Amino acid sequence: MRAELATAGALGAWFAPAAAPVAPFVATAFRIPRRLAEPTGIAITFDDGPHPQGTPAVLRELDRAGARATFFLVGEQVEREPALAAEIAAAGHEIAIHGYRHTLLLRRSPRALRADFERAAEVIADATGTKPRVYRPPYGVFSAPALLLVRRLGWQPLLWSRWGRDWERRATAESITTRATRDLQRGDVVLLHDADHYSSADSWRRTVAALPSILAATGEPFVTASQST
Ligand SMILES: [Zn+2]
Repeated sequence: MRAELATAGALGAWFAPAAAPVAPFVATAFRIPRRLAEPTGIAITFDDGPHPQGTPAVLRELDRAGARATFFLVGEQVEREPALAAEIAAAGHEIAIHGYRHTLLLRRSPRALRADFERAAEVIADATGTKPRVYRPPYGVFSAPALLLVRRLGWQPLLWSRWGRDWERRATAESITTRATRDLQRGDVVLLHDADHYSSADSWRRTVAALPSILAATGEPFVTASQST
């Protein structure tokens, strides 16, 4: 346990509050999947929603391209916008869990973690009528107790292998597309955001602007996160 805690502390040092952490390091340390278990296609994923403007705009672009995606919902946002969460599920996209509160897991006790995870699952299930089983932590940062709990709950942890860095203030539609589609291959998991609740204001507008070119950048099929797990 001591070794695990030391690792968790080291992971904390890698974390920059304003940006996402160094995901490859985290994933390697804990053997957390960053890619699909079966590379049958590409999984486009959206974190931090639902969002009253960002989510409908993203849903429109996905519908236009005939693409399915996975939405990692935040419980406290689902409580504000339950109908939107239901709309995502009704459109055929996969619902996944991003926790109840969007804060780092590192300093949370196992008891607090369990309370957060169970509340998130309950709120999301109530709103969407689905029982999500794929989990991604806020900022992509796991603690050892959090990972243990995720696995005990029978959930599948999933990070990402490509990102648009669309939460950054200086991001543009072009920069998001370039980063998200670089060397895109079957099995890749692409991280994007349909909400600006925890990132720079209106970041979702740039993501929406980038989506048509991201979705057109590959001839590979789009699959949801658990289609390949
Ligand atoms: Zn997030």
